[in-house]
Amino acid sequence: MSRRPATPTVAVRDQILAILRGADDPLSTPQILIRMGNGGRNCNGPRPGSCRSPGDCPAWCWSTPGPHGPPVYPQLRALERLGLVARAHYPNPDSIAKAVAAGNLYHHIVDADPRCVYWRYVDTDTDEVFNEVLRALEGS
Ligand SMILES: [Zn+2]
Repeated sequence: MSRRPATPTVAVRDQILAILRGADDPLSTPQILIRMGNGGRNCNGPRPGSCRSPGDCPAWCWSTPGPHGPPVYPQLRALERLGLVARAHYPNPDSIAKAVAAGNLYHHIVDADPRCVYWRYVDTDTDEVFNEVLRALEGS
């Protein structure tokens, strides 16, 4: 028996990594779910179109198994074990300094949800490390 994760699992992990790599700030689990849903274009609901109208998808479809793959949260945990993502404190001194500089500290503090886990991409410094990590990802 192969221990390789099924292809949809690898695809979901790749998408999560791409989302976190592209984000300037740590993202909460619900924010990642919403990006996975991509405004209903990547709905993981049981019925296609259950959240088709753009901007309408609350993306809770990505918190349960669906036709596009497994739920996101267990994959975040798996990526955390692989050292590819890490939990982040948010807001944090960096984000607060940025918000002060941008003049939106109030919104920054109000928008950040202390009940949520925030995640960040763990930088791997070289392509070699990154490729090694991809192999680990596919073999885990
Ligand atoms: Zn959806």
